[in-house]
Amino acid sequence: PHVVTQPCFNCKYTDCVVVCPVECFYEGEKMLYIHPDECIDCEACVPECPVEAIYHEDNVPDEWKDFIALNAEMSPQS
Ligand code: SF4
Repeated sequence: PHVVTQPCFNCKYTDCVVVCPVECFYEGEKMLYIHPDECIDCEACVPECPVEAIYHEDNVPDEWKDFIALNAEMSPQS
């Protein structure tokens, strides 16, 4: 799945949410998260993010690797 990382913090845009075909973005208090079991890796959200916060989990920069677990943790449990 794709993962939302640090640059999303305090970002007010939701352009990514609007284009997601499976509506797998969830809004936290300070940033958005992607549900790892719902994301279909279509990549539609990646170019829409104005702060380049969204990466495929295999390509998350080292300093933001913790966000992989955080996105899973902060998504609603199904
Ligand atoms: Fe949604 Fe596609 Fe982005 Fe996954 S990659 S969060 S399915 S828009």
